[in-house]
Parts: sequence; structure tokens; C-alpha cells
Amino acid sequence: MSMGIYVQVPFCQTRCTYCNFHTGVVARDRYLPYVEAVCREIEQTGNAAAGADTIYIGGGTPSLLEPSALAQVVDQVRRASESEPAEVTLEADPETVTPEKARQWHGAGINRISLGAQSFQDEELKAAGRMHRREDIFRAVDLLRGAGFRNISLDLIAGLPHQTRQSWEESISQLLRILPEHVSIYMLEIDEGSRLGREALAGGGRYGANALPSDDDTADFYDSARLRLQSGGYEHYEISNWGLPGRQSRHNLKYWRREPYIGFGAGAHSFDGFMRWANVHESDRYARLIAQGTSTREQVEPVTPPIALSEDMFLGLRQLRGADFARIEGEYSKEELLHDRLLTLRQRIETLQTHGMLEFDGTFVRIPPEKLTISSEILLELLG
Ligand code: SF4
Repeated sequence: MSMGIYVQVPFCQTRCTYCNFHTGVVARDRYLPYVEAVCREIEQTGNAAAGADTIYIGGGTPSLLEPSALAQVVDQVRRASESEPAEVTLEADPETVTPEKARQWHGAGINRISLGAQSFQDEELKAAGRMHRREDIFRAVDLLRGAGFRNISLDLIAGLPHQTRQSWEESISQLLRILPEHVSIYMLEIDEGSRLGREALAGGGRYGANALPSDDDTADFYDSARLRLQSGGYEHYEISNWGLPGRQSRHNLKYWRREPYIGFGAGAHSFDGFMRWANVHESDRYARLIAQGTSTREQVEPVTPPIALSEDMFLGLRQLRGADFARIEGEYSKEELLHDRLLTLRQRIETLQTHGMLEFDGTFVRIPPEKLTISSEILLELLG
């Protein structure tokens, strides 16, 4: 088991209509002081990051930062981890990729780019408030390949306003033409705190709430993508993630396998195997606390055995290989207070299995691929 390092960059150029993340559109002169605060936080953590073998720089839109600032962060993590991380991912928006940036990212040791493509349809991108257009995605991939990147992930969103069966299939065809090493597909969840969410509640068409595909259509889009990616040689390994052989995200697998990770930056989450915590969300306050040498942690929660058991099941079932229920039973039955819970779980697994909602071979329990679009309901039934 090895540790992962996550670095949060909470800045964006504009606000996407569906987004309710803790990110802000701020003046560029705020970027560098923030990066310095992150580097100081990494330094202040001492040897807690020792042995980390993955770095993931996410956001927000971290590709907005100067490449030299990103190099500074990567170097700081390298020093703290006292090792050469095997996978260093940067999230990038297509329109932010330039030949110079791509070259410098590669030179800084970043070896994986997660590109927020979201759709190959300009109408959908525009309605979602994205800054890039279809051509920017092809251009960005060419530039990244030219700079030496051999590990690119593309994100798509199913369920965007104006998306139709035809436009979705076309987006998947374009993605398969690019053949990225890794693909993430998310089904849009309408967040009531986003502009699109508020419009969906109040009615209106400014952000395309009146042109949203139905939930059933969105589920069909996901299912169709699942089958086409499978035929295209991708291995489906987590509900929202596919990789060509050997190209699973090493960093993100740590989350689903409950391996430790430390997050740096405003709002970043951490898990050390026993506790979970998050840093304060506001980037100004975060930088102030770091400058004072005061803790930035909040929401510090011990992971008690009942919580660990639920996490183990929930995160295991997000993976296509499933949750190792034989191991889970063996491990958690040492806790007397969990005996009833384990018994209930086994009964519920067997009931859901008879209804075709779960597969259980006596060791691994998993959600059948064709039922993944209703995974939330199945998980609620099992763990609720
Ligand atoms: S780029 Fe990502 S984090 Fe930024 S506003 Fe859009 S969805 Fe939110």
C-alpha cells in the first residue's frame, strides 16, 4: 500500500452552469501567493508524505497556473515524498493548453493529463458555460502528444442540456477517434446550488434547463458509452472510469481501495487510514492560516469500525471487480458490535442477488454492469 498526494487548485476562468464546487474566479495575481502557501503546507507536513507514489493536481482549473508554479509544486512534493512518483496527473481545460505549457508540464515531470473535454458539441459546451469548443479538444490532444504525453484521460458528461442520442453518439465516436488512454464519463447530477440547478427548479431556458435530456435518456447514454468503450478495447474498472490495458488511474484507485492520501490546498481532503479531514475551503483564509503556521484542518473525523465497514462496501461496489466481502467479513467480524451489521449485509446481498441487482460469487460482491445506472438505489438498499 502506498500513499497518494492530491493538490487542490480552486481557481477557474469562469463558472460552468452546472458547477457547485468551491472554486472561484479570481485575479491572476492571486495564483502565485496561493501556490507558495501550498508549498509551505507541504513543507510544514514534514515526513507525512514520505513514500508517496502518485501526485494529482486537480481543481478548479490547475492548468491556468504558470507552468513554473506547477513545477514548483511538483518539486516540493518530490522532496517531501523522498521518491520519484510514478504517476503525476494534471487536470487541464482544453483551451488552456499551449505548445509552451505542454512542453513545460512534461519537463516538470507531469506524465498524465486529465482533459476536461465534457462534450464534442459546441452547442452543449456553450450552454454549459465551458470556455472551449470541439476544435480545442483536438488541438489540445495534438499539442500534448507532440510534447511527449503518452497518458491522456478525457472526461465526458452525459446529461448536458441540448444533448440528444445522436449528439451523444457523435461525441463518443470523436472520443474513440482520439483513443485516449483513459476515459471518465459522469452522469450529470443537477446540483440545486448551481445556476443550472436553480433554473431547473424555477423554470427557464437561459442555461438550458428546458433542454435537459430525461434521466432515462441520460442512463441510456451512459449504457451505450459503456458498450462502445468495451468494444473499443477499454477496461471498465470503476463506475465512471475506463482505461486501456494497464492505464487505470493509479491515484484514483487509492480512493476506491481506501489507501491513504494527503490533500494539500484549500478544501483538499485527506485520509491516513484512521482519520479523514478537510482543509478550510476559502483560499484566502487557507493562505492566511498557512502564513501564521496555524492548522488548516477542519471536519476532522475518526473513521470508526462501522464507518470503515460502510466505506469498504460502498467504495468496493463502485469498482467493477466489486467488494471483497469474504475479506470484509473476516476483518470486521473481529469487532463484536459489527456482528449484527455483517449478518444484515449478508442477508441483503442475498436478497438483492435474487432480484438480479447484485452478483455474489461467495467472495466478491458486485453490481452487474447493466445495473450501474441505478447503482445509487442499489447502494441505498444495501447500506441504508
Ligand atoms: S471548470 Fe470545473 S471546477 Fe471550474 S467551474 Fe467548471 S466544472 Fe466547476
